[in-house]
Parts: sequence; structure tokens; C-alpha cells
Amino acid sequence: MTEFDYDFFVIGGGSGGVRAARLAAGMGKRVAIAEEYRYGGTCVIRGCVPKKLFVYASHFSEEFEDAAGFGWKVGESHFDWNTLIANKDREIARLEGLYRKGLSNAGAEIFDSRAELVDQHHVRILSTNQVVSADKILIAVGGRVSDAGDLEGREHTITSNEAFHLETLPKSILIAGGGYIAVEFANIFHGLGVETTLIYRGPEILKNFDMDLRRTLHRTMEEKGIRVLCSELITHVVRSADDRLDVTTSGGKNLKVDEVMLALGRTPNTESLGLESAGVETDAVGAVIVDDYMRTNVENIYAVGDVTNRVQLTPVAIHEAMCIVDTVFRDKPTRPDHDMIATAVFSQPEIGTVGFSEDAAVQKFEELEIYSATFRPMKHTLSGRQEKMITKLVVNAADRRVVGAHILGPDAGELAQVLAIALKAGCTKDDFDRTMAVHPTAAEELVTMYQPSYRVRNGERVE
Ligand code: NDP
Repeated sequence: MTEFDYDFFVIGGGSGGVRAARLAAGMGKRVAIAEEYRYGGTCVIRGCVPKKLFVYASHFSEEFEDAAGFGWKVGESHFDWNTLIANKDREIARLEGLYRKGLSNAGAEIFDSRAELVDQHHVRILSTNQVVSADKILIAVGGRVSDAGDLEGREHTITSNEAFHLETLPKSILIAGGGYIAVEFANIFHGLGVETTLIYRGPEILKNFDMDLRRTLHRTMEEKGIRVLCSELITHVVRSADDRLDVTTSGGKNLKVDEVMLALGRTPNTESLGLESAGVETDAVGAVIVDDYMRTNVENIYAVGDVTNRVQLTPVAIHEAMCIVDTVFRDKPTRPDHDMIATAVFSQPEIGTVGFSEDAAVQKFEELEIYSATFRPMKHTLSGRQEKMITKLVVNAADRRVVGAHILGPDAGELAQVLAIALKAGCTKDDFDRTMAVHPTAAEELVTMYQPSYRVRNGERVE
């Protein structure tokens, strides 16, 4: 029998890779992990975590305004970008330290280096040019920000990577894209006092989310003062003599801004990874092709997370990593369950969603009952803010199962997490109906919408 240097070599120290390496090492396997940048990956270093800290920061401007209705007189406020960046960086460094500690405590060997496949069982550690062998290999290299193709002047633009480290807070910004990052950052920058414009090629932001939430969020963002341009693209960006940026759009608009940020999706990070040398197949966009158990076409090589370009969400990568450890090292073949994944957009107001949007459900079910409530959250009765909250349930009329739950409003992400348990468990509308409300909360609407707002039969709305 061949003796390998390691039982398991993990390439990529993000959420998926670290979890798999730590669990396998904790079982006594000989594990090594290599990361070329910083442990923690996109989520911890330049994604979900610093983004959420920015979201908190950006909320304060509205909180200060809202306080007046409750009798508070808030003094003059001033926001200091450098303090936020420094505090955020300190927290990220702490988390990175925890990731590294978790790995070393479990007994994994940590390489601070890029690693590339040499063949089916060998990996090159680039910092030392050392080649090591491993029985099983996991590709967990994630994705990178998609480039803007042939956009003229793209060298003047930034992405979310740079947005986390801008030296100064811009006075104005144009953000391109209509997905998670574009929408979240538009709200962040606006909340921090930046004049913000969002430009999106499609007819309505946040494709694939429920249309009621998309439209209402769009309108709310505009009411706050964010300019939202739909069905429009940036055609070119030029740096002007005053060091600002002149942007031309497909709609013939000329905008002058301090920064242009592109948030146009993410691409699997598989270039020059040695996949061809190892015989690992990729698809047209470079994503590693895996089966239900995340095994590639090479029997000892697996892949998890964004590099497989299936569901680009941190908890999914972590879950997949745990399944791989079960499959490979516990002799318990486990496939990840990608059904009913809850997700949140940390916009302002927030979106929390799980299951089918109404439009997607129409394609799958013959008849739907739609339960929907639009109301002003209680806090805003005194704050005076006009923002509306939406709670919406999509129910398959045939068996009364709740197949979609959508929330727009404060803490929608937190609510989506809890709703996901109910939907995953297959709860019916009757289960919701016999659940006592918690009063006074916004979430009580979810269990008190007794009559359908309308029905949809064979794609047609019927009252
Ligand atoms: P998304 O896939 O969410 O959005 C990309 C956006 O860019 C879409 O609106 C897309 O348009 C648009 N787009 C793509 N290519 C072009 C182009 N060439 N020109 C103009 N527009 C273009 O990606 P993000 O970058 O926002 O986020 C990356 C991933 O990170 C997400 O998929 C998500 O899974 C994850 N993420 C999750 C978060 C969360 O859970 N809260 C937060 C942030 C990121 P169209 O809609 O027409 O395709």
C-alpha cells in the first residue's frame, strides 16, 4: 500500500476548507491545509463578516433620526471612517487567529502558501516548491470577484475587496449590479452619508427574490435617497482632471462620482490550479464539476463551496465540508441537502427569505394560496419613518405546505433562519395557524394571516 505524506490535503483556507481540515484532523487524520492569502476566506476576511460590521455602522444615521420621536435629542453626530476600518480590521484579525488556532489545536499542518495540484495525489506548495503527497485532496479555493469584461475604464473601478480598505470615505459612489453585494453596499454607503447610485442591467433589483420584496425594497431605497437606475449599464468610465470619475451609461446619462464599485458576481478560482494535470474536470465557467457527494471525476479529489459554483453561500460550504468528512472519513456517505436554503440580504430594510418566490412557485405548483401583509413596523409609529414591512407566505394549495416565506423589514434575516426550520420540516399553513402569536412583534403576522390575500391558479391570479 502506498504511504502518503497526508491522509487529507485541503487547498484553500476559507469556510469550507477550514471546517473540513479541522474536523478531519480532529479525528486523528494526518491533515494539511494551504491558503495563499488569509485564513477565513472571503466570508471572514472580505465578505459577510466585515460587510455586516459595515451594515451595523451604517444603521446609526437612521437610529439617530428615529430617536427624536421617542423623546431623545441626539447631539451633533460625526462619522469617522478610519475608526470603523481600524476596528473592523482588528476584529477580522481576531477571527483569522481563531481559524488558525482551531486548525492547529486539531492537529492540522498549516501552510501559508498557494498550493497547486501536480497530479492525482500530489500538491506543490509554491512558497517552498515542495511537493507533498496526499491520499485524499479537497479543493476549497472559493471564487473571486468577476471582472467587468470589456468595460472601458474598468481600471478606475473598485470591487467589494477594495471597498473594505478605502483610505477615505467617498462623497459619492456608483455601484453596478443588482445582486446581494451591490444592494447591500448601496445601503451601507448611503447610511454612512455617501451620495449613492445603483445601476443594474435588469428591470428590477435582486433577481430570483420575491417580486413584492424586490419592488418594495427598490422603492424604499429611493425614498431614502439612493438613486436606482434599472435596465441600464455603465458603458465607460474616465478619470477626469479633478481626479473624479466621469461615467457614461447605456441610457445616455453622464454621472460624476468619486468611486465606481462593480459587484457583478463571482467566478470560481480555478485558474492555474493544476486541475488539468490532475485530470479534474471543470465546466464552462471554470467551476469544478462534482457529484452529489462532492466528488470530482477523479475518485480521491473532492471540492466544496463556491469553487463548485452551485450555491455561493458560506453556510452551504461549511455544510458540504461536514458531509465530505462523513463520507470520506466516517464511512457514512452523506450528500448535502440544498433544498430550502434560507438567505438574507442585509439591505435596509433587510430581506429574509426561504423557499419559493411566488413567481418560482407558479412554475411548480398548480394552485397557490398567497398570504401577505404589508404594514408599518410598530417602532415607526413613533419614529415617523414611513418604511413598510412585508410578511408573505406562499402555500401549495394541494397539500397546504408552506413552500415559501419572505420577509422585508427589521431582522428579516434572523426570522428567515427560524422560518427555515419550519419549512424544512414540511410545516403546513395549518401548523402556522395553530401556533400562538408572540405579541407585540412583527413576526406574529406570520401566524395570524388566516385568509389568503389571493390565489394563483395555473399561473393566473384569482381572488
Ligand atoms: P450576484 O450574483 O448576487 O449578483 C451579480 C449581479 O451582477 C447581478 O445583478 C447580475 O445581473 C449582475 N451582472 C453580472 N454580470 C454583469 C455584467 N457583465 N454587466 C452588468 N451586470 C452584471 O453576485 P454578487 O457579486 O452580488 O455576490 C456574489 C455572491 O456572494 C452571491 O452570489 C452571493 O451568493 C454571495 N453573497 C451573499 C451575501 C448574503 O448571503 N447576504 C452577501 C454578499 C454576497 P443579473 O441579475 O441580470 O444576472
